[in-house]
Amino acid sequence: MSDPLLRVCRVCARYSFRPECPDGHGPTRTPHPARFDPADRYGKYRRQLQEAARGRLSAP
Ligand SMILES: [Zn+2]
Repeated sequence: MSDPLLRVCRVCARYSFRPECPDGHGPTRTPHPARFDPADRYGKYRRQLQEAARGRLSAP
């Protein structure tokens, strides 16, 4: 699941199953990177902690 087969070129947006674009544009990427990343659910709290560390927000 962390490495889906379908990939897309970041230059011509052509879908491919190869790690590189068939047209030679370079390496492809996954169409939906980190779509189901569970860590992202805590991004809000992570940013709050970062703000607190900078002294902009009063730490709990
Ligand atoms: Zn391409």
